Amino acid sequence: MNVKKVMREFGIRPSKRLGQHFLIDERPLAAMIEAAELKNEDGVLEIGPGLGVLTLKLGRLVRKVVAVEKDPALFPVLEKLTGKYKNICLLNEDVLKLDLEKVSKEHFDGKFKVVANLPYYITSPILMKIVENRHLIKMAVIMVQKEVAQRLSARPGTRDYGILSIAVQLYAHVDLICQVGRSAFLPPPKVESAVVRLKLRELPSVNIEDEKMFFRIVEAAFGERRKTVKNSLKSRLSLPSDEIREALKKAGIDENRRAETLNIEEFTELSREIAKIIK
Ligand code: SAM
Repeated sequence: MNVKKVMREFGIRPSKRLGQHFLIDERPLAAMIEAAELKNEDGVLEIGPGLGVLTLKLGRLVRKVVAVEKDPALFPVLEKLTGKYKNICLLNEDVLKLDLEKVSKEHFDGKFKVVANLPYYITSPILMKIVENRHLIKMAVIMVQKEVAQRLSARPGTRDYGILSIAVQLYAHVDLICQVGRSAFLPPPKVESAVVRLKLRELPSVNIEDEKMFFRIVEAAFGERRKTVKNSLKSRLSLPSDEIREALKKAGIDENRRAETLNIEEFTELSREIAKIIK
């Protein structure tokens, strides 16, 4: 598809507010399609189809595509361009308000995949929505801001590792697929981008007894990044030093370590020990 021509023909002026940056480079599109490991029988939810470049490719490859686009101005264009594909269903809605249980029941039998070039201004709530609906979603292949991709796929001990890495890696195996430059989009965004793949699992990668406590500890530990875990927990949870020291010892964690060096298993052990003190 010639995006420039379509924009001219339909008088489309991309909305900054809605994060409209249309893909004009075939390479990232091909990489997303390949990463999604698409099969004929698949159902795919696309978030923000824009002018339909990705939508049309998906429509040719899978059984059903549901594409949710918020912008009513793009809708007639999308309808026209995808019109001959009976397996593409367009919804003029806000993805954050979309009931995925309902979409799943009405359009897909079984789990579906998400393939999308995301509107970056709502990346975090979309990621949370994907993780919360992991019982419905098999996999998500998404274009995000490069920094977000690095945080999503970061391993312990690296600068990018933090709460987002843990929250997503707990429920998904994350692969960084490729980096994408600004010139791949029209208009080019201010930031570099990357494609990531999340293979979702219904159960967390480790057995967590109290998820609320787990995230309370993770948030407290990362609250003051330059401090040791011991000192961060002390100031954030208002617990006595010796009790935190004891909990760290029982969890097998050196008290001088910083939060970014702890893996998910270690945070699980630590939250289990801290829970015994707090309760
Ligand atoms: N998929 C197209 C492409 O790759 O060329 C467009 C991607 S563009 C980065 C993001 C798209 O998400 C835009 O079409 C925008 O209108 C749409 N969008 C923004 N906010 C949305 C929301 N809350 N719900 C659904 N779509 C949204």
